[in-house]
Amino acid sequence: MLVVWWRTFMKDIPDFIAGFQQFRAKYIHGEESLFSRLRKSQNPRALVISCCDSRVDPALLTGADPGDLFVIRNVANLVPPYSNEAQAPGVRSAIEFAVKGLGVERIIVLGHSGCGGIQALMDGEHTQFEFIAAWVAIASTARERVLRDMPDASPTEQARTCGQIAITVSLQNLLTFPWVRERVEQGSVSLHGWYFDIDAGELSAYSEEAQAFTALVAEQG
Ligand SMILES: [Zn+2]
Repeated sequence: MLVVWWRTFMKDIPDFIAGFQQFRAKYIHGEESLFSRLRKSQNPRALVISCCDSRVDPALLTGADPGDLFVIRNVANLVPPYSNEAQAPGVRSAIEFAVKGLGVERIIVLGHSGCGGIQALMDGEHTQFEFIAAWVAIASTARERVLRDMPDASPTEQARTCGQIAITVSLQNLLTFPWVRERVEQGSVSLHGWYFDIDAGELSAYSEEAQAFTALVAEQG
């Protein structure tokens, strides 16, 4: 066990430390030291709710710098509905701080293809995971809709559609927070549903009007 740990330590941890040295040179000691401003306060341009998936880093995907994005990451990028009786208000408290404390003007729910959490949701009672099933049940209506509307589709296609519907479930759940709804109705906060297709390398956005996701960037010719 110790040998395995040591090998991992020797391989990955020095890479992370070298990465921090580059980070420090760029953002802390760089000519236009970003942190001379950020040291005092943060004023992020958006709240992003994304998956824990290692391939879907919101800052890397959008070319954001430190201080640009306030990020909540959880399995399958889900937002639970508003509740002031929640026993573990982790996600809700982060949304509250972003909206009421920092005054973010944009909230982006960022989903992706090939999501293990969404697959666990589709697997239902057959899932092998102990905690994930209970968590992803937040989006159980997405699974129900897929099984009702496209029972003969391939599992891949079902999971893809489920992941996209789950994004809209989270957007609807955001509106159950009274102080989010109020700001959306006043026009001071906008909600966005984005989907990163890992296979196609494409980022798309949900259009309420079209009830569909459409590409945000035209394919390069
Ligand atoms: Zn995921």
